[in-house]
Amino acid sequence: MLEISTISELQKAIRAEKAKGRSIGFVPTMGYFHEGHLTLMREAARRSDVVVVSIFVNPIQFGPHEDLDKYPRDIDRDRNMARESGVAILFTPTAEEMYPEGYGSYVEVVDITGVLCGKSRPGHFTGVATVVTKLLNIVQPDRALFGEKDWQQLAVIKKLVADLNINVEIIGVPTVREEDGLAMSSRNIYLTPQEREAALVLSQSLKLAQDLVHGGETSVERMLTVVKEAIFGQDIIELEYLEICDPGSLKPLVKIESEVLIAIAARAGKARLIDNALIQPELEIKDDLL
Ligand code: AMP
Repeated sequence: MLEISTISELQKAIRAEKAKGRSIGFVPTMGYFHEGHLTLMREAARRSDVVVVSIFVNPIQFGPHEDLDKYPRDIDRDRNMARESGVAILFTPTAEEMYPEGYGSYVEVVDITGVLCGKSRPGHFTGVATVVTKLLNIVQPDRALFGEKDWQQLAVIKKLVADLNINVEIIGVPTVREEDGLAMSSRNIYLTPQEREAALVLSQSLKLAQDLVHGGETSVERMLTVVKEAIFGQDIIELEYLEICDPGSLKPLVKIESEVLIAIAARAGKARLIDNALIQPELEIKDDLL
């Protein structure tokens, strides 16, 4: 596995692979790998000849009071995990390499960034859209893979790639969970044992919502009332939002008539956690929660 930290060296290495006719699968990350990241890498390896993974804790997607400085990092561990997951090139740029002095261009996706996480994290998705556009331009992969755990992020990236005619296939990969249902996240490391236990309420709420819809509930208001009651019984968890929306446009819905997205964000101590699931009004269960 090659480890490269400059854009020019990375482009040289990728040009050499492309010259041999090899296809490139790309997985952008912020590091501190868990099974969710490794699943994206393995899926990239299954679909492509060469897997490129970036580790970059992108400063411009963090708000002023967020966890940029404390974000967990362990490059030695990540390097070994990437190597074992079939990664050919690990790209680890510095912030100066990505945003040199005088940097001044930003990618803003409108509408779908004004809801869900976009409401409480102003500027976050501009930071994400900007870094992903830069990385896609640098790597020029055939495909790039993103986790459905960050559903809104995936929707924003699909939109920017379509709107800006970026020539890449965007692939969403289902959420990887711990055995008890908690969605894997680098931020789970912040949880105390009690918060870790309480955090189960996120996936359990999604499951409860799924059960209500499968039991015939079609009113979003009634359904959210029941689910929120279950969450408010849990005082360690501070709910930020629980919403039912259209999986594509992310617009809020009042009635459940076709497949919907249920999305949740909550705080548990120092950690901000998110989760989501697709719910089909008729029998079929898409995201098999515990
Ligand atoms: P991050 O390092 O948190 O920015 O995540 C890098 C990529 O891994 C993003 O595309 C995430 O959506 C994806 N990812 C994070 N957690 C999971 C998970 N539990 N299951 C699947 N993908 C995930």
